[in-house]
Amino acid sequence: MPELPEVETIRRQLVKDIVGKRIQAVKILVPKLIKETSPVLFRRKIIGKEIANIRRRGKYLIFDLKPHLYLQVHLKLSGQLLYSSGSEPKIDHHVLFLFQDGSRLYYHDLRRFGGFTLCREDPEPLLNLGPEPLSPAFTFECWKQIILGKNGRIKTFLLDQQRIAGLGNIYATEALFRAGIHPDRRVSTLQPDETKKLYQAIKSILKKALKAGGTSIQDYVKPDGRHGNFQKSLFVYRRKGQPCLCCGNLIKVQKDGSRSTYFCPVCQR
Ligand SMILES: [Zn+2]
Repeated sequence: MPELPEVETIRRQLVKDIVGKRIQAVKILVPKLIKETSPVLFRRKIIGKEIANIRRRGKYLIFDLKPHLYLQVHLKLSGQLLYSSGSEPKIDHHVLFLFQDGSRLYYHDLRRFGGFTLCREDPEPLLNLGPEPLSPAFTFECWKQIILGKNGRIKTFLLDQQRIAGLGNIYATEALFRAGIHPDRRVSTLQPDETKKLYQAIKSILKKALKAGGTSIQDYVKPDGRHGNFQKSLFVYRRKGQPCLCCGNLIKVQKDGSRSTYFCPVCQR
């Protein structure tokens, strides 16, 4: 699933590609990708609108449309947004936005859990998300307040978008490794130095992954179809049975629900 670095990478490219463009036509091949309204109404409302800006909040993208309308996009497990100037060959897709200048935005979603919601009001406040970990507002004091008095499993806690926005399985797993914390630890057992290390690890991993254009392991590609590069820098995620890059012991995996948690039994305590 695309997480903060992937969604932000997509946002930055799309800002360059489509902001200022007017939607001329929409083709919807998979109606379930349009949420909370019929494809007919969706098309009627969005055609003729201009993309004024694209924002990101957690793993959501919000397209500000002119005049007054918002398009909320969530890629969920396998959504891809791909841009084409219009001269290239057609790209496989489930939804297509055609702009007045002939350029296109394709949406493809193999698992079909993602999709589009049109909103008359700014949907951001309703998303009920925790702070953005790369924003100046996410200070160490802020982090201490977030974990104060909590007692869940730390891995599960990091995935809770209402506590902190944008982390998913890859970066929660990697941040815990870099902080030397076992994924099964209870939040309340974290020592002050571990709290600090984890705070720094979250920020640093997200920054590095963003700089690398995200992690391409499954479906994630950038809007130009190219892969991110951060998969080369992962220490534990998807490295089951391979030697830990720090201590040489074998990386273990455990299942929690549908997710796999990777960790080094020696480096993470
Ligand atoms: Zn290790």
